[in-house]
Amino acid sequence: MARSHNIPGSRKTFAQFIWVVALFCAIASGASAMPVVDSVRIGDYPEKTRFVIEFDKPIKFNVFTLGSPYRVVVELPEVAWRIKPDAVPRGKRITGYRFGLFRPGQSRVVIDFKSPIKVTNSFTLPANSKRGHRLVLDITEISPAMFSVLQKRRPVTRSSRPNESPVVRAPPPPIKKPKKRRKALRPLIVLDPGHGGVDPGARGKRGTLEKSLVLNQAKELRRQLLATGRYRVVMTRSRDIFVRLRERIAIAHRAGGDLFISLHADSIGNRHIRGGSVYTLSERASDKEAEALARRENKSDIIAGVDLNDQSKTVAKILIDLRQRLTKNDSVAFAKTLVSQLSKKTRMLRRKHRFAGFAVLKGPEIPSVLIELGYLSNLQDERLLRRTSHRRKIAGAIVRAIDSYFSRQQALRQP
Ligand SMILES: [Zn+2]
Repeated sequence: MARSHNIPGSRKTFAQFIWVVALFCAIASGASAMPVVDSVRIGDYPEKTRFVIEFDKPIKFNVFTLGSPYRVVVELPEVAWRIKPDAVPRGKRITGYRFGLFRPGQSRVVIDFKSPIKVTNSFTLPANSKRGHRLVLDITEISPAMFSVLQKRRPVTRSSRPNESPVVRAPPPPIKKPKKRRKALRPLIVLDPGHGGVDPGARGKRGTLEKSLVLNQAKELRRQLLATGRYRVVMTRSRDIFVRLRERIAIAHRAGGDLFISLHADSIGNRHIRGGSVYTLSERASDKEAEALARRENKSDIIAGVDLNDQSKTVAKILIDLRQRLTKNDSVAFAKTLVSQLSKKTRMLRRKHRFAGFAVLKGPEIPSVLIELGYLSNLQDERLLRRTSHRRKIAGAIVRAIDSYFSRQQALRQP
């Protein structure tokens, strides 16, 4: 009897073992199953431009065009990139392209064009002895009139998956109900590393990408904030993924944030200019440079190939409502504290606190600031911003500013 019990028992153990091995294999193959982009090639011909993306595996894709500015957007499954970011615009008709994660499970390539275009041909080719699996796009120039006719038809002719609305509705779960907030909870700081995924942001002389730099800075800041035991932290993104501007505000709102800090690093034509600066929201910009900066930062959705037809006006012109006016004083108070703490630890611009119409600062009930950590177009700033020790110093200064902001808030609330 005992023996007959033993056999099924050992079979069960064996079966469990097989199951674990199978699960492990499934996980391992799942990880390696992600297609890899090996190269991108552009061919200019008199009548067309050919854009070829090479993969190590066959892939499925979807392609569509967008206007103002003219773009071709290629939707792919989540892929790994073995290519370098395109630093120089290239091609007779192509002015640049970028790639990256657009949302979980979906990567994108966004290609910019000088003039209206049409994708006349798109197909895949299997691997051969010389080349891997290829996705080939043939793109031709068309008239603006023809372009707008084709764009109007697009929602019908395009693939069944629209390019944006599902993302907005697939947010991370709320941390707590935004309505009735318990006073005893520690303040919630929302950290917003700018750009990400298909939107790389500014690019340094040595190839530093703003999206990676600000993510590292945000992670260090989160670490230091949590270490104090005084704050809770939510990040609008914690990996290399694109997040729409309005989704960043929505994340902060759903989480019930008490303070919103957007992190960026700028790049401009003058390579001598360096230093950090702090920005708050305003309908009218404090100066021309701040206005131009806000315009650059507000382009994130366009860069990622989002169709802005429905909201181009809100992005173009920032209107501020009453609730935003009420939080403005808190934003300005925090910005001032930030400037004084940051100035102790790092070089700042002459005009340290400025304001302009940043779309990401439009969260109506949450005091919000945007920090430009420095200029990637300046070699010294770029070198500094890449350093771990500098990152720690900056995070420390921001934590001190947050501390003094909340202790002031508390003092104001006391009878
Ligand atoms: Zn930026």
